[in-house]
Amino acid sequence: MTAINAYAAFDAKAPLGPFTLERREVGENDVQIEILYCGVCHSDLHQVRNEWGGAMYPLVPGHEIVGRVTKVGNQVSKFKEGDLAGVGCFVDSCRHCPSCQEGLEQYCEEGMVGTYNSKQRNGRPEPTYGGYSSQIVVDAAYTLKVPENLELSRVAPLLCAGITTYSPLRQWKVGAGHRVGIVGLGGLGHMAVKLAASMGADVTVLSTSPEKEKDARELGAHHFAITKDKDVLKGLSRTFDFIIDTVSAPHDLNAYLGMLKRDGTMILLGAPPEPSPVAGFSLINGRRRLAGSLIGGIAETQDMLDYCAEHNIMSDVEVIPVDYINEAYERMLKGDVKYRFVIDMASLK
Ligand code: NAP
Ligand code: ZN
Ligand code: ZN
Repeated sequence: MTAINAYAAFDAKAPLGPFTLERREVGENDVQIEILYCGVCHSDLHQVRNEWGGAMYPLVPGHEIVGRVTKVGNQVSKFKEGDLAGVGCFVDSCRHCPSCQEGLEQYCEEGMVGTYNSKQRNGRPEPTYGGYSSQIVVDAAYTLKVPENLELSRVAPLLCAGITTYSPLRQWKVGAGHRVGIVGLGGLGHMAVKLAASMGADVTVLSTSPEKEKDARELGAHHFAITKDKDVLKGLSRTFDFIIDTVSAPHDLNAYLGMLKRDGTMILLGAPPEPSPVAGFSLINGRRRLAGSLIGGIAETQDMLDYCAEHNIMSDVEVIPVDYINEAYERMLKGDVKYRFVIDMASLK
């Protein structure tokens, strides 16, 4: 066991602060990673504040992890010491259910083991501890190869925000000839804009923040609409083939469903703690579909990283020291993130 510096939430209301945790010794299939950067996802905030229930304190968040491999187990061939490595939202799963067998570990029928706040499958009593820490030990099979040609701090958010938006774009084969609406320009939203535009789609950002228009266009959006304006909403009626909804708070889904063309699909990525009602007629009219999508499997996450390396796609980030995290959460709640906070883990030493 090795003692590791970390930052943790101690209950749902108190600010996060320093914490020391222990990582397991490196097993034969494990890699040990010195964490260099960790992105800050809105899911971290939901879980720290126990908005989804089930929080186990002390809770060390962080599932957008990049770093250098410092040790490998003797059965590991995928990595050697000194390689870059990434860890996303989960670190284990059952490995034998149909979803695991199909490389869709995020939908493991026994439940994936989240990178933090999850019960471990190896019998260890403590919950998993995430990336707001200086080191992590993960099974190499659940660890990603990180391309060397990208800026590391800007790669970290790809491990959650990147794959979460890439996966539905691939699943629904979004590309040239499609009109796509992205609801919410935050961490997920800005990656959805970059990725959908890179795949050839015509992209509209649907935002509550007028001041984000210039950024939206620089990120690759072709159009921008303020959703607080009822006339704007009316003007977009029956416009989109796909809508990707990344909003973190309850909002009126029916208003967006009305913007889908006949047979259009709205994909929910945002996970607000409270449900939002859907009127039957929002779907019945126009044979519309409402779907959801959860992050992505290991193989698809690797695909996404390689795709981003090839197309030079990275997150737009504000790099912060770890002791800024409580302020970062407050800014995130106000939609004031341009467009992902990333913790420089050197600040933890
Ligand atoms: P974020 O950076 O905080 O972005 C959310 C954006 O939603 C905000 O920037 C804002 O954009 C918009 N928004 C916030 N409150 C709103 C409201 N009341 N009404 C309308 N729009 C609002 O969050 P994130 O990290 O991208 O995460 C977004 C959500 O996705 C969270 O719920 C998170 O837990 C979830 N998530 C899901 C998955 C998955 O696998 N499905 C993975 C990761 C995260 P504008 O200023 O442009 O309006
Ligand atoms: Zn996340
Ligand atoms: Zn499984």
